[in-house]
Parts: sequence; structure tokens; C-alpha cells
Amino acid sequence: MQTAEIQRRWLNFFEQRGHTVVPSASLVSDDPSLMFTVAGMVPFVPYLSGLVPAPYDRATSVQKCIRTNDIEEVGKTPRHGTFFQMCGNFSFGDYFKEGAIKFAWELLTTPEADGGLGFSPDDLWVTVYEEDEEALKLWLEHSSLPLERIQKLGKDTNYWSTGQPGPAGPCSEIFFDLGPEYGIDGGPATDDDRYVEIWNLVFMQYQIADVKSKLDFTIVGDLPKQNIDTGMGLERVAFIKQGVQNMYEIDQVRPVLDRAAALAGKTYGANIDDDVRLRVIADHVRSGLMLISDGVTPSNEGRGYILRRLLRRVTLSMRLLGVEGPSFSELFPVSRDAMQAAYPDVAENFDFISRVAYAEEKTFLRTLASGIQILDTAIESAVAGAKSAGGAASVDGDTAFLLHDTHGFPVELTLEIAEEAGVSVDRDVFATLMQEQRDRAKADAKAKKGQRADLAVYKELRGLGETAFVGYDQLTHESRVL
Ligand code: ATP
Ligand code: MG
Ligand code: MG
Ligand code: MG
Repeated sequence: MQTAEIQRRWLNFFEQRGHTVVPSASLVSDDPSLMFTVAGMVPFVPYLSGLVPAPYDRATSVQKCIRTNDIEEVGKTPRHGTFFQMCGNFSFGDYFKEGAIKFAWELLTTPEADGGLGFSPDDLWVTVYEEDEEALKLWLEHSSLPLERIQKLGKDTNYWSTGQPGPAGPCSEIFFDLGPEYGIDGGPATDDDRYVEIWNLVFMQYQIADVKSKLDFTIVGDLPKQNIDTGMGLERVAFIKQGVQNMYEIDQVRPVLDRAAALAGKTYGANIDDDVRLRVIADHVRSGLMLISDGVTPSNEGRGYILRRLLRRVTLSMRLLGVEGPSFSELFPVSRDAMQAAYPDVAENFDFISRVAYAEEKTFLRTLASGIQILDTAIESAVAGAKSAGGAASVDGDTAFLLHDTHGFPVELTLEIAEEAGVSVDRDVFATLMQEQRDRAKADAKAKKGQRADLAVYKELRGLGETAFVGYDQLTHESRVL
């Protein structure tokens, strides 16, 4: 089943059940203090907060999202993209737990021939918040899941709150079992390689106060209007339905991976490190395409910096695969072709997208070239030093750090080039300098935190008191170039 077909089925299903279909909002939210749209609920926050009356009781969307905090997972887990699409259904004071659970089960398990997603109930598991007996009862009543496949989990995974006084409530998550070859038989509570989270149901149920942290607060009553916010990962369902191993192998992503492999003369599946690089490239090219299409351009701060990091990672990963020249003019059109059926604006904006992306690549390749000169000089003097003083030649950690910090060189690349020349790198000094830099960044972030505490998706809630939204996910971005 093509990704676009899953999207179509999702929207049809909820439209037929009284939901207004709302087109995806931009990746760049209206609010400058929110880096990107990180979840399907973001555009609906004014209605979920109750401050602005919702123009409909039920809505559904397939929302473009960017999550930078998942960047380190990309290519290593099967399920984390920096760009992905979240299918959502929302109830604003209309149906609640029972409705949300019934809809989810029906859509997932209705056979494909009847318009559903055709999952076998035997492959599904569910988690509920450990004190949410109501959700447990509703799952037993409205699904064919046996009690053993409904696991109770704690607040850390199965509770949603903003960390501020205001709305909060338990979650229930739905998982797909990839099978015994992927891990042990203990359910999602014990293993997130074998059991892939596909859908999260959030029951916005309570008013909380006396909030000490995201997990430590007092429930002071029911919300006057209880809301439903759900998110199903389109790419996760697509990879399962398409019978491939991960979200980078689906129809919307795989063509880029294949083109990168062809450019590098590599066979996907032959080497674990190369495979991760190919998946990173495929993911990041798509994120770059979608971000530039939504108007983001590379810069040294904020959103533009995230875009720059993503594009640089593509170049560096290509280089580690052995491609030293430009490759964006090969990769971006392939990504456009894979995405334009779902997002026709990507084709319309492609002149702009390609100009921005190719110019950025050109600049970075120049920066890399000057870094390589510095490294070559350091290697030469290390070899000369070793010759005169005896012992093994080694590039000092300061140079490796300078290359990383100023020239955007990952230490991996430094190691590789040095190794080719038969020279080692002082990794201990490099690691110490990196740690110092991380500590500085942490202290800096702490100092800034006060100023940034209100991630203003929930800005409207401030009218209700101290409430602020601190995100579905914390929107951290490290100081590292990579
Ligand atoms: P995980 O625990 O696997 O990181 P999550 O709990 O962070 O997922 P949610 O915040 O609940 O994810 O988002 C709702 C749904 O969106 C998830 O159930 C998943 O299907 C999808 N999703 C979340 N993050 C990503 C991502 N980085 N790439 C692809 N899909 C994602
Ligand atoms: Mg996550
Ligand atoms: Mg999760
Ligand atoms: Mg979740």
C-alpha cells in the first residue's frame, strides 16, 4: 500500500465519521518561539486549550512534522525521521476515550478490501496508563485484544502534560509486533525494537495544579471540555504495510537512498555503517526539500541552522561513502519526484528549493576543502615530528576539535583521512574538548531557559494563569555541527 493511499484512507475514514478534513499547516508554525511543527496537534492548540472556540467538534489532518530531537536516531532505528507525517484525529469536547479507542481499532483492523488498514489483531499490542482502568476496560470491550496484550505503563511514557498548570491526561499507545526475530517476547513495555509504536491516543481529561515537574502534579478536577488528540505515524504504518524494514525504505523515501547508493557505487545492505549513512541521506534530503519548500533557508541560527545542519550531514555522509563532489542536483529532484504526489507545492517551488540547496552545498564543499587543507598540514607535521622524535605519528586533539568546531568536520571524517595517511588522532584530548564544549552549551542553555520557558503553542493559555506549553518534545538543539 502506497503511502499516499494510507493517507487517503485515513482522511476518508475520519471524514465519513463526522470529522472536518483540515490541510496540513506549514512546518514553520506561526509562532516564532516554536521552532517547527512537531505534532499534528500544534495547529489545533487554540481549540484544545479551550480559549478559542473550535469551528468544528471533530477534525482530522495529516500534518507535516519536523523533530530535531530525533536526529541521532535517524537511520539507526527503523522508525525515526527528522521529517515525518502525523495522521491525527481530534475531538473538541465531543467524543472521548471510548470513541477514540473504537475508531483506532476499527481503522487498523478493518480489512484492506473494506477501506481499512488491514492489520491482523494478533500483531497489535496496546499500553495504557497504569491508573487508567477506564481505558483498559474500553480496550477489552471494543477490541479483540486479550488482557496479556494490554500493558500498564507509568507516567513517563503514558501521560501527557505541559509541565504547567492546565490540561493533562493519560495516553494509550498502539504498537505493532515485528516478530520474534526482532527481540524478546515481552511486549512494548520491555522492547522498543521489536514492538514499534504506531499510534498515540491522548486523553486530555484533567485540570492539574501544584505542578512540580512534568510528572509531579496534583489533579484538581476534570476539564470542563475533555478533548482527544491522537497521532499515528504515516511512515511507520507505511513501512509495515509495504513489508520493508524501516521508514527509509518506503516509496516516498527509498528512491533517494537508491540514487545515493548508485552515486557512491555502494550496494544497500552490504555494510552496516554505509547503510546508516544512506538512510540518513535519504531522510535529510527529504527534510531539506520540505523545509525549503516551506520557506526556511540556511543560516547560522534558529530554523535556518537546523536546515544547515541537515544539509551538511547529507554532504558529509556522501563524503564518507566516497562521493567528494556535489550530489544535491542528483538527490533533490529524486526526492521531489517521490513527494510531489502528496505535496504538489514541492514541484511548484522546486526552482527556489534547488537554488537554495545547491548554493548551500557549494559553500559547504568549499569550507570542507579548506578544512582538509588544515588536516593535511597537521598530518604532514605529525609524520615529520614522528620521524625526528621517533614513535607513532598522531594528529593532536586540538586540531581535530578545531576542524569539528569551526569547519563542520565530524571527527569520523578526520579519523578516516588520518587513517588513510597511516596517522592516528589524539582522541582523548578531542573527547575532553568536546565535553568542555557540551558543558558550556548546557550552562548557556540553562541561562537561556528562563527566557524560553514558554513554548508558545499554548501561548493563549497564559490568559488562564501561569500555563505554558513546553512542547510535545523538548525542542533542544545541540551546539554540535552534526
Ligand atoms: P517514539 O517513542 O517511537 O519515539 P513518540 O512517543 O515520541 O514515538 P509521539 O510523540 O507519541 O511519538 O507521536 C505520535 C506518533 O507519531 C508516534 O506514535 C509515531 O507513530 C509517530 N512519530 C513520532 N516521532 C516520529 C519520528 N521521529 N519519525 C516518524 N514517526 C514518528
Ligand atoms: Mg519519540
Ligand atoms: Mg513513545
Ligand atoms: Mg508516543
